[in-house]
Parts: sequence; C-alpha cells; structure tokens
Amino acid sequence: MKKVRTRIAPSPTGNLHIGTVRTALFNFLFAKHEDGEFIIRIEDTDKERNEKKYEEDILEGLSWLNLTHDALYRQSEHVARHTEVLEELLQADKAYISREPKKDDPQAEALIVRLRNPNVDLTFTDLIRGDITFNTEDLGDFVIARSMTEPLYHLAVVVDDYDAGITHVIRGDDHISNTPRQILIGEALNFERPQYAHIPLILSPDRTKLSKRKGAVSLCDYRNKGYISEAITNYLALLGWNPGTEQETFSLDELCKIFSLEKIQKGGAIFNQEKLDWFNKEYLRKLPLEQLTMHITKALPQSVKELTGYNEERVLAIAPALAERISRFDEITALGETGELDYYFSAPEYIPDALLPTKGSATKEETAYYLEEVLHRLHTINDEHFVEEKIKDALWSYANEKGRSAVLWPMRFALSGKPKSPDPFSLAHILGKEETHMRLEKAIAMLRKNA
Ligand code: GLU
Repeated sequence: MKKVRTRIAPSPTGNLHIGTVRTALFNFLFAKHEDGEFIIRIEDTDKERNEKKYEEDILEGLSWLNLTHDALYRQSEHVARHTEVLEELLQADKAYISREPKKDDPQAEALIVRLRNPNVDLTFTDLIRGDITFNTEDLGDFVIARSMTEPLYHLAVVVDDYDAGITHVIRGDDHISNTPRQILIGEALNFERPQYAHIPLILSPDRTKLSKRKGAVSLCDYRNKGYISEAITNYLALLGWNPGTEQETFSLDELCKIFSLEKIQKGGAIFNQEKLDWFNKEYLRKLPLEQLTMHITKALPQSVKELTGYNEERVLAIAPALAERISRFDEITALGETGELDYYFSAPEYIPDALLPTKGSATKEETAYYLEEVLHRLHTINDEHFVEEKIKDALWSYANEKGRSAVLWPMRFALSGKPKSPDPFSLAHILGKEETHMRLEKAIAMLRKNA
C-alpha cells in the first residue's frame, strides 16, 4: 500500500487561524495514525498579500503545538513545474489559450489558459460525507492560469499535491465546491485521484463563521493569553471528532493512536471557550513545578516584580496555590495588576478593624489574644516542619475550641490583608515562619493599640 501523506496548505496572508490549526491537527493525527507523513506547503503565490511574518507565525505556531512536519514546501518554488504542466495540457489539447481583455485594463489582451471541460457528471467519495456528485457543465471551460507563468490556485494545488505524493486531502468543507474543478484538472493530467475528506468548519456559539469580532481566532492570541499547547490540541481534537468513549483528556501521542476519520462528525462544531479553559486548567495543574513557575513568572506584571519581598523562591512556593485559582496564565497578570498578589511579596496595609471577623462579635482585645495563642503555637513548630499540614495540626483544635472564624479569619487577614485569599495554613507555609511571625505580631500590636 502507498504510504499515507497528508498536508496542510496555508496561505501566508494572516496569522495562523485556529480553524487551520484544527485542519492541520486532523491531517497530522491521521498521517501519524497510518504511519504516514505530514507535510506543510506554504501557498505563497499571492505576491500582493503574502508576508514573511505570517509564514513565520504559521510555522512557529505549528511547531509550538508539536505538529511536526516531515517536509516543508513553498508553492512559489514550483512555478517552473506549473508552466511545464500547462504546456503539457495545451499540447494534449486538454486546455487552450484564450485571448481575453485584461480585467484591470480592458483595452489590453491577456493570454489566459482555460481547461477544456469534458462536461460530465462527476462523483467523488468523501471520507466524511460519502458520495458527492456534481454536474461539471456549470463550470464551463474554467480558467486554470492567468498566463503561462501565473497558474491559479486549482492547478497549483493539484500539481503540488500529486508531486508530493499526497494520498489524502483533508481540509475544511468550505473547499467542497473546489473539488470538482481539481478532480477535472487531475484527470486531464492522468493523475491518480487523492482521497478527499472535508471536515465541518468550526462555528461561533451563534452558529455563524468564527470571526475576530466574536473572539480570538489566531493561535498566537491564545498563546499570548497563556494557554498550554497540549490543552489546545486536546480541545481541538475533540471539536468535531470523538473517540467514541467517555475519555476526554488525551496526549498528542494517544490521539495519534486512536484517531480515525470515520468518527468525524458531519455538522459544524461549535467553539466553546469555557471548555477550552477547562482543558487548560487540567493541563496547567499537571505541569511540573518548574514549568508552572516559569509560566507564572512570565505572567506576573512588573508592579509585582518590584515589590520588596519579590524573589524566585517565593514564586516557586506560591505556584501550586496560584495554579488552583486560575484556568489561564493571563489571569495571573490580571490578579497581579489589581494588587491581589501583593501580600505574597510585601506585608499588607489595612485598618485594625478589618482584622475582626465579619461573623461573631469578637472584640479587638479577644482577637489579639487569639492571635497571640496562634503565634505561640506556631513557635512550637520547627523551621523545617513549617509546612501547611503541620501548621494546620498545630492550630486546628484551638480554632475549633474558640470558633474557627474567630481565630482563622484574623490570622488569614493579618497575613494577606484581603477578605479573600487562600487559607491561612497555606499562606503561612508560603510566607515562611519568619514572615508569618512578623505579620502576626504587627496585627497584634495594631489591635492592642486600638483596643
Ligand atoms: N491555500 C488554501 C487555503 O488556505 C489551501 C486549500 C487546500 O487545502 O486545498 O485555504
């Protein structure tokens, strides 16, 4: 059997679109499942709209997602071959040159190449939709090149796919109407017909085409927001395809093993941001501590990095607690910018009254007394045992005896200066024994002074 070869053929006229990413992913997964090869072909023949930066963005994005290619081509490198094919078609009288007024200058003539349409009913078997029949008469003798050196998309695609040994053309179903033309060109050249699989497009929640107006469409936007590459590939794989089981999280390797075109759905797939965030949270929690810390450090705003107590060790210590609070790393930037993370890196400022629990009627005097007992109990923990679990063990029975909110609220507030923050045990652990003591002592002094 012929080696399976698939391809993605993006035009470098914009940043890598999330829909192209999914098409690339399906091509990659299918090729790898079949022990075949996945090829990237940059369709850079539109000189006016092409930009090198977009080509870079496309290649960088696919490599960030680990959709590694076995070969990379640029369509512009194949122009001589396209001319050769045009000559072959003319010689065989499968195509002819037509003198027509130029579009942009009707006084001048262009030598356009048109295919002789055999005007047949044409059926192809789409691997997702089944047999599709077109009457090609409506297409007329369609244009395949603007001149002998300017082939149009249909001709270039057919020739390039054939030359690269592409066995399966897997692409968005917005290309279905292009397929009859491309098959006719292939037949005129006696090329073996590739198999076609047209995948349903990704739609916005309102079932219209995904567009910038309705949210991010470029992969780089997702990357900048702090999404993890595996979360994106996992989510996109399940967008329009399902494994037929309840399992939802799959590594790229696992997906390669189980992917099949038959399980691609026929209807449009709705893009669901919350679901993507859910996947991202799953992957974020599983990141090794070092990587997690690296992402968090990158996301922290400069204002946080300038705080007196900021250091890498502290970031490493808070990383697991922060990971619990977020789905995406850009949330760290937002939390940092609103001052929500300041207490990790500098002692908070607050008014003494804020230390009193909202529930109950503890006085400042009583609260100071509770915090002194907390301090006393924390003293009994050795430096090397000053960890969340031991801190909780040391305080839990006392908190239950006096009332949890009476004891733990002021403790937490003394450490964070915020009505909402992680629990006091993990805060104390992260801040360390010395800093925890300092903050509690400060709170006690304030309560006593204002009692
Ligand atoms: N350059 C085309 C596009 O970006 C490729 C279409 C195809 O896969 O044949 O839509």
